[in-house]
Amino acid sequence: MLGANSRSGRNFLQTPGPTPIPERVLAAMNRQIIDHRGPEFQALTHRLLANLRCVFKTKHPVMIFASSGAGAWEACFVNTLSAGDRVLFVETGHFAKGWAATAKAFGLECDVIPTDWRSGVDPDVLEARLRGDVDRKIKAICVVHNETSTGARTSVGEVRAAIDAAQHPALLMVDTVSGLGAMDFRHDEWGVDVSLSGSQKGLMLPPGLSFVCASEKALAAHRSAQLPRHYWSWDKMLTMNADGFFPFTPGTGLLFGLAESLAMLNAEGLDNVFARHERHAEAVRRAVEAWDLEVWCRNPRHYSPAVTAVAVPAGYDADRFRRLVLDYYDVSLAMGLGPLAGKVFRIGHMGHTNDVTIVGAVAAVEMGLDIAGIPFNEGGVTAAMRFLRRPY
Ligand SMILES: *Cc1c(COP(=O)(O)O)cnc(C)c1O
Repeated sequence: MLGANSRSGRNFLQTPGPTPIPERVLAAMNRQIIDHRGPEFQALTHRLLANLRCVFKTKHPVMIFASSGAGAWEACFVNTLSAGDRVLFVETGHFAKGWAATAKAFGLECDVIPTDWRSGVDPDVLEARLRGDVDRKIKAICVVHNETSTGARTSVGEVRAAIDAAQHPALLMVDTVSGLGAMDFRHDEWGVDVSLSGSQKGLMLPPGLSFVCASEKALAAHRSAQLPRHYWSWDKMLTMNADGFFPFTPGTGLLFGLAESLAMLNAEGLDNVFARHERHAEAVRRAVEAWDLEVWCRNPRHYSPAVTAVAVPAGYDADRFRRLVLDYYDVSLAMGLGPLAGKVFRIGHMGHTNDVTIVGAVAAVEMGLDIAGIPFNEGGVTAAMRFLRRPY
């Protein structure tokens, strides 16, 4: 077996976070740190916050925290809610479940709409649940835009329409950690009250930054919310941000990288970035179909442009397969999370990737299926190439 010490060339990081970091972004971060109370930093803050608003498609403030995405999960609750408030989750997968666990830890009452973890949010089910909340006890509705654990996307526009149809006043909170920068997101147009994201997915950065965008309604809720907060306080953050500064030491090195990744997204054009993701997702799904394996997401309208989860046939171990692909080909695939452990593997096609890295990843999977002894039909690579050789 080849093994780690005979590796040459480069690792293919086909995980849906972290995603590969462009050389330009790496280079931008490789510089001396600056005083985060000085004028150069101040100018950087103003520029970053304005450019982030374009990515969230919002006129409202975007805040940057030094944390992983899970920190933003906390930030949205402690800033808008009080102990005992009721929050409704649609449990589309592992990340929706983790977010709900965060809410419980803060003493919030959690209502959960279960799903089979194989599709996005069903707006009709959500609407019916909200209509049933006649006393309007639910204070916030939490949905995950791109459920990274299952490869299913939710239409946030449909979620908004369901809430409006039920005339429900709750805040809409959306986790777009693995959506932002990979698929369309419209904070203002979709009437989202709190959106949150992270750095290590579509934004092509190392882990370590999280982002929160709050509507007028969320900011109004912030003024009366009683949960304790200090580090995550929007009030402190917005007050300091107005002058180009942060209440606590920011992740300055990562912010240099963020300026560069936002410039790259802007240069390519967000619509082109999203079309590229759709194209790569389609190429991967064609390969899966040719192998005669199963795309885990069972609703084609919800197929994620950023990640595809693939079911391995019963009796085979997806983790052993992933391990072989890493050992032999130095291609990192993502594991199944929670109840999907060992049952699915996930191919990330998010961020800094192109047609040839996608074909390379698909080739590694096809070779890996063979050495792992998993039954499959050959031809996945050919199917992906046939699709990708068409121009955009
Ligand atoms: C990655 C991810 C998160 C955040 O995870 P961290 O490990 O805390 O960065 C949250 N939600 C979704 C959907 C994700 O993909």
